[in-house]
Amino acid sequence: MAGQKHTRVLIIGSGPAGYTAGVYASRAMLNPVLVQGIEPGGQLTTTTEVENWPGDTEVQGPDLMVRMEGHAREMGCEIIGDIINDLDLSKRPFTATADSGTVFTADAVILATGARAKWLGLDSEEAYKGFGVSACATCDGFFYRGQEIVVIGGGNTAVEEALFLTNFASKVTLIHRRDELRAEKILIDRLMKNPKIEPLWHHVLEEVVGENDPKGVTAVKVKHVDTGEISEIPCKGVFVAIGHAPASELVKDQLELHHGGYVKVKPGSTETSVPGVFAAGDLTDHKYRQAVTSAGMGCMAALDAERFLAEAGLAEGDTTLPLGHGAPENEGV
Ligand code: FAD
Ligand code: NAP
Repeated sequence: MAGQKHTRVLIIGSGPAGYTAGVYASRAMLNPVLVQGIEPGGQLTTTTEVENWPGDTEVQGPDLMVRMEGHAREMGCEIIGDIINDLDLSKRPFTATADSGTVFTADAVILATGARAKWLGLDSEEAYKGFGVSACATCDGFFYRGQEIVVIGGGNTAVEEALFLTNFASKVTLIHRRDELRAEKILIDRLMKNPKIEPLWHHVLEEVVGENDPKGVTAVKVKHVDTGEISEIPCKGVFVAIGHAPASELVKDQLELHHGGYVKVKPGSTETSVPGVFAAGDLTDHKYRQAVTSAGMGCMAALDAERFLAEAGLAEGDTTLPLGHGAPENEGV
């Protein structure tokens, strides 16, 4: 769908933050347009059970996101399957160019591009990505029936992935660089009770070992962080779960960012360093990074955008507001 499309509020991203912003901006009669990006539904589509979404004792992540999308649509949000490749926040209206060639112009923008899995950066990790190395257990776990697997990391994601992978694997080794997990207590408890999981403390991944015909992983070399001793663990799958980095590439030279790339917002609000541009969810939150907090920030962003447009007296398509007007003090989260 090439061409040009104007909207009062452009929402970029379709995780809990984006869809919640879509619900609220629609109910404020702002006729928002939401561009979903490469991962419609966001990070929760890569997991199974979600047990901390209020109102659902247990819900499948992908199901929850389908419901959120339906809710936003039902309220009147226009949802477009496209990716924003370029965003110009230097002049009004703001301009966003999508993969399809469509150019969106917008009076206000809500950034909800979330976060993406981090990688260790090893050459051997890169060489076997898709051939035994993965960052998504729900996507790839099925391929490892009856096999031995390692998971790298000590947070909620690593522990959940290790637990999930026991549905397929004969053994899961959780490799962590410390001897203390940062995951929630309830998850640690489940991990420790699972007979298929063996934690390996004080170790880091040194190299993924594999073969090329057929291409696949055969083992990992791990290093003891104190002694430097290298040992080898046979395995067919390596799941890297060492956290996520904010997806702020679109705005890295245009907005103030925190160390680590998180978009800075005025405390207690979603206002960024450019008036009319709001940020919500994991993109701006290095601390909580939960579905419910992202949804909460999506709500805040829509309310902030509504107030901004009303205070600026910005009628649809009006391009007269000076960019410097009302710039927030960015003190950070
Ligand atoms: P995301 O969910 O990261 O979504 C970002 C969206 O932005 C995506 O739709 C993507 O397509 C889009 N996007 C990115 N770039 C562009 C672009 N250029 N153009 C257009 N769109 C773009 N939290 C919980 O509360 N409970 C859990 O049980 C839980 N389990 C988790 C399990 C796993 C495996 C992971 C990885 C995370 C889990 N989390 C959980 C954390 C939770 O998923 C995140 O906090 C939440 O999804 C963040 O929401 P978000 O809307 O900020 O962004
Ligand atoms: P995280 O909490 O940042 O944990 C990352 C883990 O990887 C840490 O244990 C860290 O070790 C380790 N690590 C980081 N870099 C490493 C490196 N280079 N080499 C070896 N190990 C490394 O990330 P996450 O587990 O992906 O969680 C992200 C957010 O999503 C969190 O806020 C989490 O609560 C949320 N989430 C929630 C749920 C849930 O609610 N059920 C599920 C999944 C994720 P150290 O501990 O030593 O720093």
